[in-house]
Amino acid sequence: MLISPIRAFDDNYIWAIQPAKGKPAVIVDPGDEKPVLAWLEKHNVQLASILITHHHWDHTDGLMPLLEHYQVPVYGPANPKIEGITHPVAEGNTFVPEGLQSRFEVIETPGHTLDHISFYTPGLLFCGDTLFSAGCGRMFEGTAPQFYTSLRKLAELPATTAVYCTHEYTAANLRFAAAAEPDNKAIEQAQRDVAARREDDQPSLPSSIARELEINPFLHARDPDEFARLRQWKDKF
Ligand SMILES: [Zn+2]
Repeated sequence: MLISPIRAFDDNYIWAIQPAKGKPAVIVDPGDEKPVLAWLEKHNVQLASILITHHHWDHTDGLMPLLEHYQVPVYGPANPKIEGITHPVAEGNTFVPEGLQSRFEVIETPGHTLDHISFYTPGLLFCGDTLFSAGCGRMFEGTAPQFYTSLRKLAELPATTAVYCTHEYTAANLRFAAAAEPDNKAIEQAQRDVAARREDDQPSLPSSIARELEINPFLHARDPDEFARLRQWKDKF
């Protein structure tokens, strides 16, 4: 599969998944339809289907405008707040998104929001605002035990899984990670790697589960209380 970033707003990535170059694309979390339509036109690619991870506007506002141009299946949480979901999906459901041949599994990952789901297919994870590289989303709706459990589920995926988060927050997250774990050499190395990529205006993503297990302090929390303390510290950092 071919995965391409479409940049939106200041630091969002809308991911485009294609079975091969030039084939119709599956779009993940279209917060804005304009860059998606421009990307489809530039690459002369059709829209096959859409995946939605959670209800926040910067992941969903482009959905209805895209559906005016394309009548395609939309897979996402069964949340009535999200207009345009045609295929509500929940924990343990599996489906083959229109346009692809691979089966995707739905993993419920509440914490950032209560409706948050992640999409997994062997080798690839689309985790919205749950797991970021070297960080995690803010806890807007869930509880620390919920968020902790969600992150544990993702941490147990195969180490080689590529992790596609929806924000370019890695450099800022690594500054916090370095403060939380001053002796962690992998974090220092990641800071140098990410600085070089960002200087070239390249995304720091995807990450991988193996890399996150090394550099992500939120995956090192041993229990929900420790997770909550880290999350509160990061909110003020
Ligand atoms: Zn969000």
